[in-house]
Amino acid sequence: MPRIAILGGGPTGLGAAYRLRERGVDDFEVFERAGEIGGLATSFQDAKGYTWDVSGHIIFSGYPYFNQFLEKMLGKEGIRRIDRESWIKFEDRYVRYPFQNHLSSLPERAMLECLIGLVESQTIDRDRAFRNFEEWVFAKFGAGVSKHFMIPYNEKVWSTPLSQMGFYWIAERVAVVDWKKALETALLPKNVDWGPNATFGYPATRGTVGLWLAVLPYLGDRVRYRKRAVCVDEDEREIRFSDGSTARYEKLLTTLPLEAFVTRLARAPESVRAASKKLLFNRLFTVGVGLKRPSPSTKNWIYFPNPKTPFYRMTYLSNYSPDIVPGGDTSRYCSLLMETTYSRFRPLPAGDFAKSVVNGLVDEEILQPADLPAIESVYLIHAAHAYPIPSVDRDEALETIQSYLESKEIYSRGRFGSWKYEIGNQDHSLMQGKEVVDRWLDGSAEKVFRS
Ligand SMILES: Cc1cc2nc3c(=O)[nH]c(=O)nc-3n(C[C@H](O)[C@H](O)[C@H](O)COP(=O)(O)OP(=O)(O)OC[C@H]3O[C@@H](n4cnc5c(N)ncnc54)[C@H](O)[C@@H]3O)c2cc1C
Repeated sequence: MPRIAILGGGPTGLGAAYRLRERGVDDFEVFERAGEIGGLATSFQDAKGYTWDVSGHIIFSGYPYFNQFLEKMLGKEGIRRIDRESWIKFEDRYVRYPFQNHLSSLPERAMLECLIGLVESQTIDRDRAFRNFEEWVFAKFGAGVSKHFMIPYNEKVWSTPLSQMGFYWIAERVAVVDWKKALETALLPKNVDWGPNATFGYPATRGTVGLWLAVLPYLGDRVRYRKRAVCVDEDEREIRFSDGSTARYEKLLTTLPLEAFVTRLARAPESVRAASKKLLFNRLFTVGVGLKRPSPSTKNWIYFPNPKTPFYRMTYLSNYSPDIVPGGDTSRYCSLLMETTYSRFRPLPAGDFAKSVVNGLVDEEILQPADLPAIESVYLIHAAHAYPIPSVDRDEALETIQSYLESKEIYSRGRFGSWKYEIGNQDHSLMQGKEVVDRWLDGSAEKVFRS
């Protein structure tokens, strides 16, 4: 079996490494730039004893292999099963998610606009070719739902003009509207569950990284920490690291952000470099707020479409597991996690960002001014790559880059390795790592990466 190098110790790299061991292959190494594994699915513990994820991470999957892996790593006791309670903050009130199935909670004027828009949208030729995500949203959801939720919320999450995004990625990612159901639930209100994550999992201990730490014992001594790849010579098949060392390989799995990886190639043709510049992404600032008080709510997370609120989502993180607050004591402590993206299209606002997030919690009445003295910890996490944007011309660019890489026995997989948001969760990432190994070993097809 050829010597295999894996760049990155996140879920994709660890998934590939685990699969190699599972299939009896030892001749590989994982090179991780950080001092710990997990990548975007890592967690940090602060000095006060709060554990923070890079962003709200929940576990759900339709892949039997992933679900077996999850149970093997954590056991039934090691994973908490939680029923989703997700909401949208709309002006002064909460609307259950999905928005369009809970219109009865809106102020009457907004509800009427949403219903009229939904009915009007039925007169649009729904099979016509939409040019971008923005057109798709208006056609499928109508003007009212678009104006009140879909457009402002998506502009915040993606930090990218929606007119530059495609809509081919949607599948189960967006709850598409059924206008009859929207009418019915507006007139006869009831809670409507939707989607693959109506119940989700979360590691009982150590936060999101708890799952990935459980893989390490299976990998022996194969993970090399603080190995930041700075150059890959695709003809010599050699990686150079920032500490001056090198590693040779016969097959390379890279999980680095594809556009950044291309800049590290010694010999990439101009067409590949130009294609990589077309790949759009955003960055993320997460602010964790730890409080010495019990959780103010049983909700899991809330979406904030209001453009003035500095975050697009807030998670009541400590509702996922008591282990992630000091002493495991949720009767005395709680934690909130707020996410904000930015990009070259939408920079972060100037000023003290953490302070504006805390103020936003008060403005949105998540916290009362009287709660502020209970804040014990404000923890900032930055992710230089957060969402790979499914832009209109993404796939053409990917084809150019990936076909060059594979001609050099380089396989780029994972959330930012594949640059495909629609296969960018932890389960997809693990599966991409597993399937590329199976392809190497017995020629089987990669289903997730090709889906
Ligand atoms: C805002 C947000 C919300 C999310 N929510 C969920 C969720 O609810 N559920 C879910 O399942 N998933 C969620 N995810 C996705 C999850 O984080 C990813 O699926 C997963 O982390 C991707 O794994 P990966 O290995 O492909 O990449 P990464 O996790 O990015 O790992 C790549 C690794 O490469 C390393 N690296 C980078 N550069 C170098 C270099 N030069 N040399 C060596 N190593 C390097 C990095 O340090 C990192 O460890 C979310 C992600 C984000 C950003």
